[in-house]
Amino acid sequence: MGLFGSGKEGKRVFYKTKEEIELMRNANLLVSKTLGYVGTLLKPGVTGKQLDQAAEEFIRDHKARPAFKGYGSPHNPFPGSLCISYNDIVVHGIPANREFGEKDIASVDCGVELEGFYGDAAFTFALADVDDATMELLRVTYGSLYKGIEQAVHGKRVGDISFAIQDYCERQHKYGVVRDLVGHGVGRSLHEEPEVPNFGRRGKGPVLMEGLVIAIEPMINMGVKEVYQDTDGWTIHTRDRKPSAHYEHSVAVRKGKADILSTHEFILDAIKNNNSLREISPKS
Ligand code: MG
Ligand code: MG
Repeated sequence: MGLFGSGKEGKRVFYKTKEEIELMRNANLLVSKTLGYVGTLLKPGVTGKQLDQAAEEFIRDHKARPAFKGYGSPHNPFPGSLCISYNDIVVHGIPANREFGEKDIASVDCGVELEGFYGDAAFTFALADVDDATMELLRVTYGSLYKGIEQAVHGKRVGDISFAIQDYCERQHKYGVVRDLVGHGVGRSLHEEPEVPNFGRRGKGPVLMEGLVIAIEPMINMGVKEVYQDTDGWTIHTRDRKPSAHYEHSVAVRKGKADILSTHEFILDAIKNNNSLREISPKS
C-alpha cells in the first residue's frame, strides 16, 4: 500500500529507538509468518477471500490487528485484511471470490498492528504454470527490492534507494516503474514520512538516518509504467493490462547495513513445499 496513505498522516519524520525497533521487528515477524501461511494455502481453485479470512484469523490469533481492514476513507474503507493483486493488478486488490488459476501471479500484501507498531511486507507468488517472461519480471522485481535495501544506510538519501530500483528495472531490464505509488515510512502509523519512490535521482531527497524505518516496495510492470484505478476506488491496474510485480520489506536504517525487519524466509519455505507454486530464484 502506498498511494492513499503515504505522507498524509503527519509531515514529520519519526526516528525509532532501539526498543521501538524491536517492537517493529515483532510486528513484521507476524506479517512475515502470515504471508508464509498464505503461501501454504495458495493453489488453483482457492479464492482470494478464503486466503484473506485465513490470514485475518491468523493475525487475530496472534493478538494483533489486520492493519488494512477498514483503512482509508470511512466512505470506502478497505474491506480485506490482505491486498491480493493478481496478474495486471499492481496493488490494492480487494480479496474476491475469484478462484486462482495455475497461470496466475498474485502479490499478497500484509500489514498488522501489534503493540502500537505496524509491520508491512508483500510478496508476489507465482502459480505452477506461470510463463517464463513473467517469472523473469518477478525475479527482477525481487532483485530490485534488495538493490534498494542496499542503499538504506545512514548518511545516504532516499533518492539513492529510488535510483537503484529504477536503474535496475527500467534501464537494465526495460520494465515500467510505477510512478503513482511509492514506499513510505512506517511506525506508529502505517504510512509515515518520508515517501520512498521507486524512481529518482542519486543524492537527492531526504537524508536517511539511523532509526528511520521505511517500507521499500518496488511495483514493476512488464509493459508501460502507467496505471489506473478501478471504479471500486482501490484496485490499481496496469494501463496496458500486462502483468505487474510487487515485493516489500520494512527496513530500519542503520550505519553500514540496513536492518531488514520483515523476512521472506517463511514464504520461501512455503513455496518450496507447495507443488502448486513456482519458485522465484532471485537473480543478482
Ligand atoms: Mg507498504
Ligand atoms: Mg505493504
